[in-house]
Order: sequence, then structure tokens, then C-alpha cells
Amino acid sequence: MIEYKHEPFTDFSKEENKKAFQAGMELVESYLGQDYPLIIGGERIETEEKITSVNPANKEEVVGRVSKANRELAERAMNSALEAFESWKKVKPEVRADVLFKAAAIVRRRKHEFSALLMKEAGKPWKEADADTAEGIDFLEYYGRQMLELKDGKKVQSRPGEYNRYDYIPLGVGVVISPWNFAFAIMAGTTVAAVVSGNAVLLKPASTTPVVAAKFVEVLEEAGLPKGVVNYIPGSGAEVGDYLVDHPKTRFISFTGSREVGTRIYERAAIVNEGQIWLKRVIAEMGGKDTIVVDKEADLELAAQSIVQSAFGFSGQKCSACSRAVIVEDVYDQVLERAVALTKELTVGDPMNPDNFMGPVNDQNAFDKIMKYIEIGKTEGELMAGGEGDDSKGYFIQPTIFAGLDPKARLMQEEIFGPVVAFAKAKDFNHALEIANNTEYGLTGAVISNNRAHLEQAREDFHVGNLYFNRGCTGAIVGYQPFGGFNMSGTDSKAGGPDYLLLHMQAKTTSEML
Ligand code: GLU
Repeated sequence: MIEYKHEPFTDFSKEENKKAFQAGMELVESYLGQDYPLIIGGERIETEEKITSVNPANKEEVVGRVSKANRELAERAMNSALEAFESWKKVKPEVRADVLFKAAAIVRRRKHEFSALLMKEAGKPWKEADADTAEGIDFLEYYGRQMLELKDGKKVQSRPGEYNRYDYIPLGVGVVISPWNFAFAIMAGTTVAAVVSGNAVLLKPASTTPVVAAKFVEVLEEAGLPKGVVNYIPGSGAEVGDYLVDHPKTRFISFTGSREVGTRIYERAAIVNEGQIWLKRVIAEMGGKDTIVVDKEADLELAAQSIVQSAFGFSGQKCSACSRAVIVEDVYDQVLERAVALTKELTVGDPMNPDNFMGPVNDQNAFDKIMKYIEIGKTEGELMAGGEGDDSKGYFIQPTIFAGLDPKARLMQEEIFGPVVAFAKAKDFNHALEIANNTEYGLTGAVISNNRAHLEQAREDFHVGNLYFNRGCTGAIVGYQPFGGFNMSGTDSKAGGPDYLLLHMQAKTTSEML
């Protein structure tokens, strides 16, 4: 087995790579607008009602029409998953891992097609789309290897005349509710973590990005995954989501999305419904209000670059995005001025054009919410860059900087999930850390400093799941920077880390007298 290494990003300065990428774009272009059925127990099911997936850069363009599950079909999917689980749980972990390795190889061969689909369906610019696909491949490779490490359980002691073992067994049927912002990587990662651990899955992808998920389920089938182990059931949260979260046969829920929906799922999952014989497990990855702290002894160019990249990459629609820059007063003006200058150079437009740094935001809801926060920002701080939006053709918003925010301002506290960053001034480094910790979230953070003592202080006191020094706060790599946050950012689980699969399993102790 080759040692795990993350999938390299495509070097678009090379003409041959650019050409290969464009071929992926042409392929996707050729199948836009098709219909995608539900997949339940391997069976294709067409429904009358459809979810229409559109290109957020061009509302007129239909990426695909996807069948929409209702309660009855969700129940059918549950039954097929329950049945598939009985045999899948007995399949050797090595064989389960092989399915992931094979799927990784298939996706790698079709890498640019998946990226191009993300560009159309999620509005990702070239580099962001390429990174999303690469991360999906990483999850497949990494979780496959993790399962091989866990397959014989862990070591426990035995006394003379006794043989003790400690093995991990799967949980059962899990509901995977995946987000649109990493429509490939997180959808694939959360699904295959459950699958390789021996569980069966009901996959409900985000309603704005269901096509890329349909394509991935086809890959899993091609890789040899038995029917019913993953069931593809897009549908509304209120109908299908709630029904399955409440279902007595649901054993766990793996959710990535907003704090609002995550806490709702957590509450509902706590209720023991009739016929239910276990306590459900919830794995939740929720929001962030992530801060880059800039010290007075720091590389200020690096600081400005890190803030701008982390705030505006994929239009700030990452839960890891920098939405607050907290800067020690001695260097505040310099960093702000430079960040504003860099931001004004950024281009926004059709993500298919490689010259555009930013594409659109996800949909009308996202557009309206972000624009509302821009209005709030105008009353709370000083608008330094951006502030404009245009939703006539697609959902475009300029990268926006507000300065002079009070640490308790709404712009400093509430997750916007768009290209908006708020700057606040701190008296000194202690004060900066205090502000950095003053939200209910705790996902990512970064410190730009050349002061070793300050970095060590941050290592202890900056309370976030992913803390970065002298770099931006986005772009965690599977197997290198396991990803997940504290407090209202989720259930303290770390995707792409050595403990992640364990969240999908339970340990069984057996003790035999010899
Ligand atoms: N893992 C991604 C990163 O480190 C963020 C994931 C998310 O936004 O949900 O940037």
C-alpha cells in the first residue's frame, strides 16, 4: 500500500493541464440539463416533482433536474438500507476499503469533469473547483487507509488463561446531509466515512448541488459498492430530512451545514421515538466566525494577503473563511490599507473564465442574506471596499471590507457566509486574542506574528479547532490538518483525521476464558 499523500492541485500555468481542464468543461457542457433519478436499493426511480439545479452564475442555465424524494420514498430507502446493512456489515474491512480506493481511481481519471461540474453547479472558480475534487479524492484514499488501521481493533490486556479483544463494529443506517459549499468533497467524505466503517447510508445532498452527488453515487456503483449501501435521495429538509432524522431506525446522522439546522437536528435526534432501541449519534459540522489576528511584530504583507485570500476565496462561502480581521493598533492602518488595495484588484464574474478570482454566491437566499449584512455593516462600520451586488444574471457580490467594527457588532458575531470581512482594532496582543475568542463559534483562526511567545500563547488560548500560524485560515488538507471546530461550530469531530471513522463505529469487548 502506497503511503497516503494528498492529491496535488492542478498547475494551470501548464498549457496541457489547461487543455485537459477545458476538455472536462466541454464534457460537462454536453450533458447539462439532463434528468437524474433517485437511486434506492440500486433501482432508478423517477418522480414527477423535480429539484432543478441551476448555474448560480447564470440563472437561466439548468445544470440538471433531479427527482425529489418524499416520505414514502424515504421510507423505502430506509428499508433498502436496513437490508443492505445486514450483509455490508459482514463484508471484510479490506474489501470495503478497496471500494474506496477504486472509487478514488475513477474520480482521479474524471477529475476535471467533476471540477467542471462544481464550477457549473456551485459557481466555483477553477482553483477552488480543482481543490474541492482533490479533497474528495483525499477522503477516499485516507479513510480507506484508516479503516485498514482499525480493522483489528485496538490492543487491550489479557490475564493468563484469558483472551480479550477490543473490536470496532459499525452502527447501522446513517443519514448523511451534505452541504453545497464543498458539494463534492464533503458530500463524498461524509458518505464514504460511514460506508467504509460498515454502515449503510441515506444520502440527502444539498438541494442546490444534487447533480454532482448523483455522479458520485454512480462512481461508487462502478467501484463495486453493493446495491442499497448508499441510497441517493435528494429532497426537502422539512419533509425528507426531518422524517429520517426522527426515524426510529436511524442510528446516526452526519450533518454539515448551518448552526441553525445543525442544532435543530441535534435536538430532534435526542428524542427517543417509538420502536427505537438506541440513542442516535449526531456528527455535526456547523458554522464559523473565523478570525485572523495580526500582531504588531509581523509580516504585514503576509497578513494582508492571508486576510484577503481567506475572506474572499470561493466568495467567503467556507465555514473556515476569515470573516474578522483583528489587528493590533500599531499596524492596523497599514494592514487595512493594503488589504483594501488587494481587494480592489480582485475580479468577480463567470467562474468558467480563469481570469475571475471570484464567481457568484450560491443562490437568491444567499445573495439576499449577504446583501442584508452589507446594509447592517454600513450602519456598524465604515465601508472600505465592495458593498455592491448584482443578481440580474447570476448572484454576484463584490468582495467587501468594513473597518472600525466594535468587537460585539453583529458583523463581528454572526456568520454571513459571503465575501464580507470586518476589521477591528485591538489595544495589544492579549486584547486581540480576547476578541478572537468572543464568539459562540470556534472553528478556524490564524495568527500572523513573528513573536514566538505570542504564537505559543495563541496555541494555548485561541480556542478554535483549526489554528494556523503565519498563513490563512482556510484550505485544511485531509490527513494533514484534520478539520472541525469547537463550541457552536459542531460536535468537535475532525473530518480527515485519525479519529473520524470511530464516530461511525462502536467498540465491542470480547473476553474468552482459555
Ligand atoms: N475544510 C475547508 C477548509 O479548510 C472548509 C470546509 C467548509 O467550509 O465546510 O477551508
